Amino acid sequence: MKAISIEDIISLAKRRGFVFPSSEIYGGFAAVYDYGPYGVELANNIKAAWWKAMVQQREDIVGLDSSITMSPRIWEASGHVGGFADPLTECRQCHTRHRVDHLLEDIKVQADEKMSEPEINSLFDEHKSKLKCPSCGKSDFSAVKKFNLLVKTNLGNFTGDMDDPVYLRGETCQGIYVNFKNVLDSSRVRVPFGIAQIGKAFRNEITARQFIFRTREFEQMEMQFFCSPDDEMNQYEKLREARWQFYLDLGIQPENLRWHKHENLVFYAKEAYDIEYNYPFGWKELEGVHARGDYDLTQHAKHSGQALTYTDPHTNEQYVPHIVESSVGVGRTMLMVLADSYKVEQTEAGERTVLKLPKKLAPIQVAVFPLLRNKPELVAKARELFNQLKVQFMCEFDDNGNIGKRYRRQDEIGTPYCVTVDFETLEDNAVTLRDRDTMVQSRVPLSELIALLAEKYS
Ligand code: ATP
Repeated sequence: MKAISIEDIISLAKRRGFVFPSSEIYGGFAAVYDYGPYGVELANNIKAAWWKAMVQQREDIVGLDSSITMSPRIWEASGHVGGFADPLTECRQCHTRHRVDHLLEDIKVQADEKMSEPEINSLFDEHKSKLKCPSCGKSDFSAVKKFNLLVKTNLGNFTGDMDDPVYLRGETCQGIYVNFKNVLDSSRVRVPFGIAQIGKAFRNEITARQFIFRTREFEQMEMQFFCSPDDEMNQYEKLREARWQFYLDLGIQPENLRWHKHENLVFYAKEAYDIEYNYPFGWKELEGVHARGDYDLTQHAKHSGQALTYTDPHTNEQYVPHIVESSVGVGRTMLMVLADSYKVEQTEAGERTVLKLPKKLAPIQVAVFPLLRNKPELVAKARELFNQLKVQFMCEFDDNGNIGKRYRRQDEIGTPYCVTVDFETLEDNAVTLRDRDTMVQSRVPLSELIALLAEKYS
């Protein structure tokens, strides 16, 4: 079977209304994307599955929705103003900018995130003769500059002085750290507990490649778990297990997932692993699962002047909670789900492209068709059924073109079930139920249809 390319996925995503390039009628806007009618459903279902696993089914994790703009002091405390920077070089021939760590990665040379500008320059100088510009193929690079990724804005800055900026958050977890005490004081949680949040984050990424894998505006799903120093590694192992299981439960093919251990840890980290997915462009980070020690709360305590300690109600022991975190992007999850589900199959009727999406993620759960659009009695019956089903399921009504064409369309958007109302329905009150994966069609009495679909989605 032919390997699926990223171009196949981009093309289907555009053609079928999953993902559109931003501002397209104005010539586009680099590294930002819009989710179309099916994309927004898929993204919502991904977020709902994550929330269910991380909040609803956990007694020890609560939700939060903190603001995108926050006091700039937060980003000073977190180290982002001083240190959240990627190494950048420019091709002197075609003026394309590249991330130096990514160029080096291609020739299996590992650059360390913490390297200073002189350090990364000397590593780059050592290897750059072996490198070619991915855009023009020449080998003529500028010196490396560290480029800060925080996106500046001027909310409430009435003088318009960008030397004193507000930042759009570069990650959602800082909003969690600064609300640690509010959540602790206002809800019934006790350490160990977690706070989960889904929301937008912004980064001035240098290279805008790989579709929705790396974008400048994106959504993160993050959970920060607060625990005692002694319990940190125990909670870390549990979190790693839970996150791996999440992807298996979602139906992701296990052979496309693997752990990657970070060898060069930042000074405060205890341990760091990423879950990587085998994307069409290779194994890349999907999610980070990190043991962060007490760095985050200690920094915010120091910079805010507020005590962020916890007193154990049983032992009276006082400590700054340690944190283990799970952090994943919605876009990277969606791209994984699309890549994992995209299949091209040979059938008797020719080739079919089908998205074998995990059922709980499918944008449309049931498509309802009248066999012919010019037969009012069929259309009326199908509409009646659609109106019944839509109360419980995300449905689509389609009477356009022949049935084969309608099946192909639903296959490409990953609809698990199609229901057709035909002439026999008017006689026997039964419909044809077609299964996306097996393409098997079966006759189901209308009186049993809702219960059957509910069971399939339970
Ligand atoms: P990378 O090394 O790929 O730039 P990162 O290590 O900087 O990623 P984190 O800061 O750990 O990423 O962010 C946590 C998660 O947020 C990532 O695992 C990824 O799923 C998502 N993410 C980060 N940056 C982006 C981005 N620019 N576009 C889309 N998702 C992102």
